[in-house]
Amino acid sequence: MPVQAREQAINGAHNGARLHNIGHGAIPARGSEQEAVATMTSAYAGIIEALGEDPAREGLRDTPARAAKAMQVLTRGYREDLDALINGAVFTSDTDEMVIVRGIELYSLCEHHMLPFIGKCHVAYLPQGRVLGLSKIARIVDHFARRLQIQEVLTRQIATCVNEVIGARGVGVIVEAQHMCMMMRGVEKQNSVMATSCMLGQFRSNLPTREEFLRLVRA
Ligand SMILES: [Zn+2]
Repeated sequence: MPVQAREQAINGAHNGARLHNIGHGAIPARGSEQEAVATMTSAYAGIIEALGEDPAREGLRDTPARAAKAMQVLTRGYREDLDALINGAVFTSDTDEMVIVRGIELYSLCEHHMLPFIGKCHVAYLPQGRVLGLSKIARIVDHFARRLQIQEVLTRQIATCVNEVIGARGVGVIVEAQHMCMMMRGVEKQNSVMATSCMLGQFRSNLPTREEFLRLVRA
């Protein structure tokens, strides 16, 4: 399987930054969320008509509203409160061994075509007195995936967020994903997987750490 690898290495920790600064959109009030669904519903109705389809036929009658609600789910990361999502699941620990969570399912939308990209995310960190509940790592991945994204930015946002939440000695994130905009249109490369990585702290500065991470991901 051809792998289009792109290394994305970011400089050390962003100490002192608040969680809200990590590409975290504003949380609209409930009223404006309903407004957003209404706006999207009429937009989807326009798309269906532009396709030459009959928006009144049975199978399509409720499609604009359904599609609008689905889009809300696929982009819920914009409206989630990251602090509430972490919900204090940061625990003190004296372990200094690498923590790795492999194969986290990832579903996102490319911001260029608004088509899905789907894959797996691997997250590792070297604790420095604090660890994060394992399910929270998956929630962080989702938080940044559920919005219009590009894979390189998503990878960096996940790494930066984990790093800021627990203040690790280092964080490594690898995302491997297949992009529907490549597979269903354009070059129609059915089997290409795009790989992106972001290495912070010791994952960036210490080659054996990075190699251990890569070995554990491939194991
Ligand atoms: Zn795309």
